[in-house]
Amino acid sequence: MKYVSTRGHAAGQGFTDILLEGLAPDGGLAVPEQWPRLTRAKLDAMRDLAYPQLAFEVIRFFADDFPGAGLKAICERTYTKEVFGTPEVTPLVTLEENLHLLACSNGPTLAFKDIAMQLIGHLFESVLERQGRTLNVLGATSGDTGSAAEHALKGRKGVRVFMLSPRGRMSPFQRAQMYSLDEPNIFNIAVEGVFDDCQDVVKAVNADAGFKARHAIGAVNSINWARVVAQVVYYFKGYFAATRSNDEPASFAVPSGNFGNIFAGYVARRMGLPVRRLVLATNENDVLDEFFRTGRYRPRRAAETHETSSPSMDISKASNFERFIWDVVDGDGDKVRWLWAQIGEKGGFDLSREKEWEKVEEDSGFVSGRSTHADRLETIRRVKRDYGVVIDPHTADGVKVGVRHRERGHPMICLETALPAKFEATIVEALGEPAPRPPGFEGIEDRPQRCEVMRADPEAVKAYIAARAG
Ligand SMILES: *Cc1c(COP(=O)(O)O)cnc(C)c1O
Repeated sequence: MKYVSTRGHAAGQGFTDILLEGLAPDGGLAVPEQWPRLTRAKLDAMRDLAYPQLAFEVIRFFADDFPGAGLKAICERTYTKEVFGTPEVTPLVTLEENLHLLACSNGPTLAFKDIAMQLIGHLFESVLERQGRTLNVLGATSGDTGSAAEHALKGRKGVRVFMLSPRGRMSPFQRAQMYSLDEPNIFNIAVEGVFDDCQDVVKAVNADAGFKARHAIGAVNSINWARVVAQVVYYFKGYFAATRSNDEPASFAVPSGNFGNIFAGYVARRMGLPVRRLVLATNENDVLDEFFRTGRYRPRRAAETHETSSPSMDISKASNFERFIWDVVDGDGDKVRWLWAQIGEKGGFDLSREKEWEKVEEDSGFVSGRSTHADRLETIRRVKRDYGVVIDPHTADGVKVGVRHRERGHPMICLETALPAKFEATIVEALGEPAPRPPGFEGIEDRPQRCEVMRADPEAVKAYIAARAG
């Protein structure tokens, strides 16, 4: 499997080459030259596999330059009951006939990001060790990504993590998950500002090519290809659990922000998994819903991004979206470059005027919808009342929109992307009482916390990293 850039210029690279990289040198994202296609016999053989074996079978398609025995061992070490709470890793919870939740949030930080991040922790360690290198991961987080990355990379050989978070802007639970970590290779920097200020500092540090090379600065952000690949696995797992045979199509509803999670579902569909609809749900930040309804992609400015009660979906542009558009235009890198130039020049592009729009509407499987704060509260209440299950506000966005796109006789699988315990204030607002906490998380807000408080100043952050980098 060779990888190319969505903007057409980068030479074919292997999985190991792109594992530690962010953007391709031409500014695009890494994508596989072609999609692996599963035969019916292969799909049938995968149906009854346990999660770690299923993960190995899916991921090996995309990582054929990674030693097979090593990859198998990593999948077996990552996807365990000890790390994810159950041997199924992502168990299916049936609400009623043909309506399910896929529980993707039982990892160490209680959000679906653990599923990919835990694998990345092992992959990074393995590659760095083999190549005799070290890596200093620099990132910005609004909450879930940072804690998932820190919990996956803590104690790993050859890796240090420098994570910027907006001071005082995360939920008390999220803050405790990051700042109470007492690990010599984890450095939390609380920036005086909002998430976009953190992101700008990361961009400024990365723009200093000399600094970046000198200190082996890397990333684990949402464009990391290995994260997408790891997420493809639970679409297979959820599909097999919700259907009796590979003749039955099933649909997925996915609370979306950076388009990483649902794009993994699209990849599964391209591989031949019988996915009927991919229901994309946004909150009030509806850039993606607008695209799938109208063909217009119009990223918002940071100042136009609403702060909502499903904060992990508060995005103004969807970084993985370029991978989807690349596929829609049949891998034409020049066209992708032209469309993204339109974003720079005119603030967006309108695909409905291009011949490819028909493909999006007829063949891609995507449909979409949005929800509001009031919808989330109502959905949380309704799911509790009708099924006795407490869902988090992001999952509620997905359930709200997913239910609207249900079709008789076809299973709808709603992805649970976080546990409600992480977003206590909204749960109390909806239900009048907090969500139950999983064992081990009682009173985490009371544990001692440490972090470095800094201004949003790239030079200060560089000096901090230079003094502590591995
Ligand atoms: C990150 C996140 C999302 C959005 O996922 P994308 O891959 O960015 O589309 C949704 N819900 C929760 C809880 C998240 O942490």
